[in-house]
Amino acid sequence: MVKDQLVRRGIRDERLLKAMGTIARHEFIPAKKIELAYEDQPIGIGKRQTISQPYMVALMTELLELKGDEVVLEIGTGSGYQAAILGYMAKKVYTLERHAELADRAAAQLERIGINNVEVVHADGSLGFPEHAPYNGIIVTAAAPQAPRPLMEQLAEGGRLVVPVGGPKGQKLQCWQRFGDKYNHVVVVPVSFVPLRGKYGWGLRGWRHRRKRNK
Ligand code: SAH
Repeated sequence: MVKDQLVRRGIRDERLLKAMGTIARHEFIPAKKIELAYEDQPIGIGKRQTISQPYMVALMTELLELKGDEVVLEIGTGSGYQAAILGYMAKKVYTLERHAELADRAAAQLERIGINNVEVVHADGSLGFPEHAPYNGIIVTAAAPQAPRPLMEQLAEGGRLVVPVGGPKGQKLQCWQRFGDKYNHVVVVPVSFVPLRGKYGWGLRGWRHRRKRNK
C-alpha cells in the first residue's frame, strides 16, 4: 500500500509514510470487508459512511505539514483510521463525529490499539470545538458547502484547514492557511466525499443546503 499507492503518487513526508506503514488499517474495517483493507479504494463502515481511500488519507494529512508538536482537530471520525494517523503525526488530536455509534466504536478501537493522544467527541463538528481552540491543523473528512466559518476562526496563526468543498456534482479539496485576519487558500484536487451535516454543513436529508449563512 505505502509504496504502490502513496510513494508512487508523490507522497513524500517520511513520518507520514511511517505512520501509514505502522497503523494497521484493517483494525478499522468491518470484519466482513477485511480483505479490502489495503486496497486502493474507500470502504463502507456502516451508517452510509466510508473510510477514505489510503491515498486520500495520506494527501490530506500531508497538506497539514505536521512536525509532531501540533494540536489537531478532525471533523468526521468515521472509523477512526484518519484520527489514528493524525495521532501518530501530532501531539494531540480531537476528532468529532455526529453518529454516536461510530464515535463509540472508533474510540474503543483507538484505545484497543493503544493510541492515547486522540480524543473522540460526539458532536456537530461543523461548529468546530472551541473548548480546545486554536488548532494548528483542522481536517474535515466530509464535503462542506464552503469552508465552515467556525473552523476558520478556530485556526491558530499559520494553521492549516484541509476541507473538501462542494456537493454531489463535484467537490474540490481546499487547503486554507491563516495569517492574522487573512486566509489564503489553494485548490488541490477534485474529490468525492459524503456530505458534512450540521449547522455549517448540508441539510439533514440529501444535499439540500439549509440556507444557513456562513457567518
Ligand atoms: N475520517 C473517517 C472517514 C469519515 S466519513 C475515517 O478515517 O474513517 C465522514 C464522517 O463524517 C462520517 O462518519 C459522518 O458521520 C461524519 N460527519 C458528517 N457530518 C458531520 C458533522 N457535522 N459533525 C461530525 N461528524 C460529521
